[in-house]
Amino acid sequence: MPYFPRRHLMLVTGVSILLLLLIGLVPSTDVEANRTRITLEIDAFKEEPPENDISRRTRPFLSKELNEAPEPDSEAIRLARKEAERQAKERAALGRWQSIVIASGDNLSSLFAQQGLGARVVYNISQTPDFGKQLANIRPGQTLEFRVNHNGELTQFRYVRDRLSSILFQQTADGYSAEEVILEPQIRTAYAEGEITNSLFLASQRAGLTDGLTMELAGIFGWDIDFALDIRSGDSFSVVYEERYLADDNGDQKLGNGNILAATFVNNGKDYTAIRYTDKNGNSSYYTPDGKSMRKAFLRTPVDFTRISSNFNPDRLHPVFKTKRPHRGVDYAAPTGTPIKAAGDGRISFAGWQNGFGNVVFIEHPNNIVTVYAHQSRLNKRLRKGSRVNQGDVIGYVGSTGWATGPHLHYEFRVNGVHRNPVTVKLPDAKPVPKSEMARFKQHKTGILAQLDHHQKAHQKTMLAAAQ
Ligand SMILES: [Zn+2]
Repeated sequence: MPYFPRRHLMLVTGVSILLLLLIGLVPSTDVEANRTRITLEIDAFKEEPPENDISRRTRPFLSKELNEAPEPDSEAIRLARKEAERQAKERAALGRWQSIVIASGDNLSSLFAQQGLGARVVYNISQTPDFGKQLANIRPGQTLEFRVNHNGELTQFRYVRDRLSSILFQQTADGYSAEEVILEPQIRTAYAEGEITNSLFLASQRAGLTDGLTMELAGIFGWDIDFALDIRSGDSFSVVYEERYLADDNGDQKLGNGNILAATFVNNGKDYTAIRYTDKNGNSSYYTPDGKSMRKAFLRTPVDFTRISSNFNPDRLHPVFKTKRPHRGVDYAAPTGTPIKAAGDGRISFAGWQNGFGNVVFIEHPNNIVTVYAHQSRLNKRLRKGSRVNQGDVIGYVGSTGWATGPHLHYEFRVNGVHRNPVTVKLPDAKPVPKSEMARFKQHKTGILAQLDHHQKAHQKTMLAAAQ
């Protein structure tokens, strides 16, 4: 069983509360993915200045005319088409690549028509073996590049899906052939550190970290530090992380960030260090320097709740029956449909209807621990008795089925058949680095901690120099 769940699940679960509390309070910074546009530059003809880009000038004109005169045979459309064709011929005379960024509402036929290319070309290119079908998936923001020869034939065509992947079509004797072009980003390590005076988000913004990395940082330490309640002025952090670059003729372009490789966090005078380690099977997780998992084997709360509507209470008066009935779990109020996550890795021992519980899932975990998730509006249909689940997997959705007065998750944590309070029960650590990998882990640890130390010292030197 893969013991390490996909990282995004861990983040979602570990940091969701933090998100609710913090994202709303700070102005959002730039999002890497939206900021930069694909730059296309093109072999022999790249010296052509970009002002000559005719297609982009044609497009607003064409669409405006279309809006004002919707009749398909209108004079305006005829003129627009004629103009587009004239310009396409002009470009063909230059033999240049022409690039169009796909807008919403565009389709392949309309985009080809703007290049003076008819339905037959669209048909031919979409029949290209292996890759033609992918042209059905074009999306706004992606780019199409056309190269038309003097006879008005499309000789080359490129579908740029994103900055790292494109499909190049080439004219052949009887249609087109195509190949996929995948670029590998360069990975470089970067370093940042900061001291918190106000909030983690403000401090990490000052340190140059994106919100995404900050969330990741909070997710790594979120099992030990409650970022909503425990953060003190004077807390500090340092991070070694990956940056992904694409090197091309325009120089190095940053694509975004990769993983956090190592990080420290000082909270209220206590030091935490986390090291990312990828085991021989390719699973990655964060560990302390002595190889313990940074995670717990269980999420404290398996749902993003708005409030605890009923606590664990052996002497409770039942809200429906008004009799003394122990409440052997905790009720997390949340809107109907809120995803419910498996608290830990395990195996489904029941998924279905039970009187009182309504739609309910039981999960059996190692060490005789069972968790129970009741009153669900619906269960994850893919789960059956015996299905394996990883921590953070969505098992169903909040509801009020069974004996429930409103939408909430009734959650139980049973150890050796005894109900324990899920809010306070001591949660076991997730699995440490296995003994068989300890030597490999230590080697990795030495390298990455030396890097962290080197950066910290260099940073201190810079700060001292600046202060003098
Ligand atoms: Zn309950």
